[in-house]
Amino acid sequence: MLAIQNATIVKSNHLIPGGLILTDGKTIIYAGTAQGKTIPALCETIDAHGMYVGPGLIDIHTHAGGNDWFYAAPEKAAQVHLAHGTTSVYPACYFNMSKEEFLQAIRVIRSAAQTEAGRIIKGLYMEGPYLNSKFGCEKESNQWKGPIEQSNYIEIVKEANEFAAFWSVAPEREGILSYIEDVKKVCPNAIFTVAHSEASPDEIERLIPYGLKVGTHHTNATGDRPQYPECRGVCVDEAVNMNDEIFAELIVDSRGIHVDPYMLRLVLKIKGKDRIVLISDACVFDGPPIPGLEGATDLNFDFNGDIAGSKLTLDVACRNMMVHTGAGICDVFRYASKNPATLLGRTDLGDVREGAVADLIIVDHWMNVLHVIQEGNRII
Ligand SMILES: [Zn+2]
Repeated sequence: MLAIQNATIVKSNHLIPGGLILTDGKTIIYAGTAQGKTIPALCETIDAHGMYVGPGLIDIHTHAGGNDWFYAAPEKAAQVHLAHGTTSVYPACYFNMSKEEFLQAIRVIRSAAQTEAGRIIKGLYMEGPYLNSKFGCEKESNQWKGPIEQSNYIEIVKEANEFAAFWSVAPEREGILSYIEDVKKVCPNAIFTVAHSEASPDEIERLIPYGLKVGTHHTNATGDRPQYPECRGVCVDEAVNMNDEIFAELIVDSRGIHVDPYMLRLVLKIKGKDRIVLISDACVFDGPPIPGLEGATDLNFDFNGDIAGSKLTLDVACRNMMVHTGAGICDVFRYASKNPATLLGRTDLGDVREGAVADLIIVDHWMNVLHVIQEGNRII
């Protein structure tokens, strides 16, 4: 058993100061005011000293942790995220892998999820293979530009099967519907995302009944479809903004490069607090920084001088969201824990309440992680 005393418990829309949390094994058995409660004897106790105790963070889309790709060293990558308060992670492979490389990456990540060090890996985020190579996925060399053919993808779909929670597509790709139907046969609960795309709103909305629920890194690697020169068109960003069913992933870096802070505030206004999901989209390319962005430790550059994913962990993304939008502590836990749990249908995650999984983090007012408890075990 574990007790956390002197906690300020973070709920999705309020705080409980003077709180006490009791866990039994993997489960929270009490979360509320400490008044009238006693801590059972022989209980390991953490004194939160009034700091915030919220649900463990859930990163639904990341390729790496620290200096390691998930497909190469999943346990090491997972440990980096865990140390930063992420207690559930859905690794992505890399969209320009060959079929054999995809199969191998899926096997490596799946077997890591069974290990002690990789246990926060809860599933996969299949970013690809059928994206639009014009948008941020190796235009020239992308191996999946050709026609969508079952013989090319079916082994990948079967290998990933229900371990993959998310399946990204560019809806404008010819033949995408037969791919989606095949994925659904293997994974009835698949969550589809629109990613690296210049689909029209119609092409996106027709996939909502199939389970399209996410705009992948919203406003990044998305096209525009102007009808006339100098007139703004409507495309992926507009469809994600318009449809309440669709959650908007956001990469929130310190410099506001992936998403300009003004755009963050606009998206927040349009989508509302329940449809924002912070992701790290962390990568390991490690090219030299672009002039003017030296010292931006949460950005990642490739060797062509382009921004290529981030070096974020979700604690840092939360802090950046506070700075750029004025978000409070309840809000950022909502964006990085409650909302992804809702998206995943995991009612046992994303909240500090009786019956939920005892994934808990203790943070200061700037989301600096002080303690991590994963399934009732104190990690830090
Ligand atoms: Zn991407």
